[in-house]
Amino acid sequence: MELIAEKPLTSYLKKYFGFDSFKGEQEKIIESIMLGQDTFVIMPTGGGKSLCYQLPALIKDGTAIIISPLIALMKNQVDSIRSFCAEDGIAHVLNSSLTKAEIAMVKNDITARKTKLLFVAPESLTKQENVDFLKNIPVSFYAIDEAHCISEWGHDFRPEYRRIRPIINQIGHAVPVIALTATATPKVQQDIQKSLGMLNANTFKASFNRPNLYYELRPKVNAVKEIIKIVRSFAGKSGIIYCLSRKKVEELANTLKINGIKAAPYHAGLDAGTRSKHQDQFLMEDAEVIVATIAFGMGIDKPDVRFVIHYDIPKSIEGYYQETGRGGRDGGEGKCIAFYSYNDIVKLEKFFQGKPVSEQEIGRHLLGEVVSYAESSVCRRKHILHYFGEEYQTENCENCDNCVHPKLSFEGQEYVEQLLDAVMAVKEQFKDKHIIHVLTGNTNSSIKSYKHDELEIFGQGAEKDDKFWMAVIRQSLIAGLLQKDIENFGLLKLTEAGKAFLENPTSIMLTEDHNYEEESDDAEIAVDSAKGGTADPLLFSMLKDLCKKISREKNLPPFVIFQDPSLDDMATQYPLTMDELKQIVGVGAGKALKFGAPFIALIKKYVTENEIERPMDMVVKSIANKSALKVSIIQSIDRHVPFEDIAAAKNVKYDAIVSEIEAIVASGTKLNIDYYLEEVMDEERVEEIHEYFLQAETDSIQTALEELGKDQFTEDDLRLVRIKFMSEVGN
Ligand code: ADP
Ligand code: MG
Repeated sequence: MELIAEKPLTSYLKKYFGFDSFKGEQEKIIESIMLGQDTFVIMPTGGGKSLCYQLPALIKDGTAIIISPLIALMKNQVDSIRSFCAEDGIAHVLNSSLTKAEIAMVKNDITARKTKLLFVAPESLTKQENVDFLKNIPVSFYAIDEAHCISEWGHDFRPEYRRIRPIINQIGHAVPVIALTATATPKVQQDIQKSLGMLNANTFKASFNRPNLYYELRPKVNAVKEIIKIVRSFAGKSGIIYCLSRKKVEELANTLKINGIKAAPYHAGLDAGTRSKHQDQFLMEDAEVIVATIAFGMGIDKPDVRFVIHYDIPKSIEGYYQETGRGGRDGGEGKCIAFYSYNDIVKLEKFFQGKPVSEQEIGRHLLGEVVSYAESSVCRRKHILHYFGEEYQTENCENCDNCVHPKLSFEGQEYVEQLLDAVMAVKEQFKDKHIIHVLTGNTNSSIKSYKHDELEIFGQGAEKDDKFWMAVIRQSLIAGLLQKDIENFGLLKLTEAGKAFLENPTSIMLTEDHNYEEESDDAEIAVDSAKGGTADPLLFSMLKDLCKKISREKNLPPFVIFQDPSLDDMATQYPLTMDELKQIVGVGAGKALKFGAPFIALIKKYVTENEIERPMDMVVKSIANKSALKVSIIQSIDRHVPFEDIAAAKNVKYDAIVSEIEAIVASGTKLNIDYYLEEVMDEERVEEIHEYFLQAETDSIQTALEELGKDQFTEDDLRLVRIKFMSEVGN
């Protein structure tokens, strides 16, 4: 074999990176580059792609040009290379954020041959002054990271990536090109090779299978509650939750925090300082959960992420696969759970409006693949791998929802035959929906204009519905009997195997798709009735007695201890700790501490003696409790702002402000409103109402009005004093 470097590659690996052996096909890939050949690497996230160009760059003469889409990613890499190669100027970034002096320094280091790796964004590469500069330096090779950005048919198209080949030609060194990506369907792979003019490249494709990842889809019903349950079941372990909007990220992170989970938000709308703080908290495990938009995770290398949840279904399988790929990098557990509702798909489709037609077409295509994945009851792993052009042979992966809870399968030979007949009958020139219309005999204008209602197959499959046929189409695609011509709007065509099947049909087992909308309805009802009807009447009456007993001891009316909705909730949830008690309706931290202990003791005793199985899920406290309005009211009261002014500033009615304050106090927060009472009522009247509530049976304002006399006091008077009373006595 040709000598490709002075020493064996493993000795460089040890010297520069401290690793003993190569991962996967790294060594073969590096050899290919060392031999000066164009090289194409398709390897899942975390597979170790960076090393494939970093190592040869360090060994080879000259500077390697690394093209990468994100400045943050480049910086990370430069920092890490500098940390193990102390040599001055070994790696640099060249981009528009540098000052003139910095650019001069970078260029100096390159000319002085100190720099082995130069990271550039494609925008910078295309600048004429940089092209001119690069013409005159020794370039060892070009590496194009995240190469899928070249293809419109991928999920992250960047037009400037299209210009890479022409620019490389302009710079004009006869050196190899290496393209790397973690996500490429067969169509995208072809685009990359064409655009980079490397159809003859040595191609290395690692398996995309991640056997340790568990895939599951759930109907999006009570998703927040479900998420809290999932996070709690991982007690203290790390996970990522993806949402599509910044607003949802903030909202969900807050809800998790209120429910006692250490969560931090991450999205592009936060300033850089906050973002890196939250990222560090996650890496250092001060935060268990990061709630993020897709902006999070690129270049993050946390090995022990135990769960990845998609609150919103992603826009493409590529996105889904990259994001789930951040789970279980150490080979340990990685649960990937996505919440799916067709409504979300409809919302995503709305985003396409107003975009150029080709972009819409591609966006819909990618989204259609997501729907197909979500609704299919075929092994998730098989489905994903098929999408990326890999056949997964195992019948049951035993690590996805569809394999763990398989749907009953049925003999599908007859249906597949009908489907393939229909595809042939329309001369392989139509998409899935049209084929379904032919099969079910749906006479619409398109069917009529092509005279497809005159075909023999027309209406032959009418006893089954559209959804059924869609499932047959998907499974025929996965079985390799049909193929979708992506470039031509997804026209369905028979493969060789499909033609063979038509000539000689054989048994093929199929399953029906999931129907999440139906499942959603059922689930909703189940949850509702569970919530409404399960308060334990015996415990409730015991709690009520306890309230009375304490009220007598403390000489307080029972309603200031806990009110009925709180007792009812306790009798449903059986809280056994202070933290759990604080989750109960109408119980804030103040109230829990002041009155909670004997209630917890009673519930504990009751649960043990009666061997109660507590409901798995605690009440989810919503952020509505701490809405922005409430927070700002509390702050205004601290600053002694009159209520009328608060109302004017917030542009709400006076009445609404008082209601908000009542709610704040009812949930256990102490508020001192004396400054305002002093202003609007005299002391004696306040005293009189206070006295009344102290001995009252109920906190009802109507009863109080009757007892105290309607001519003496207004409703507002009573409400204000009741706030003071509840706050002082109850909280
Ligand atoms: P990718 O770009 O494919 O997502 P990275 O290049 O970021 O993956 O590498 C993922 C992780 O694997 C990094 O932490 C890297 O240090 C590690 N790694 C790469 N090659 C090896 C190796 N040969 N031995 C051990 N760890 C490796
Ligand atoms: Mg990478």
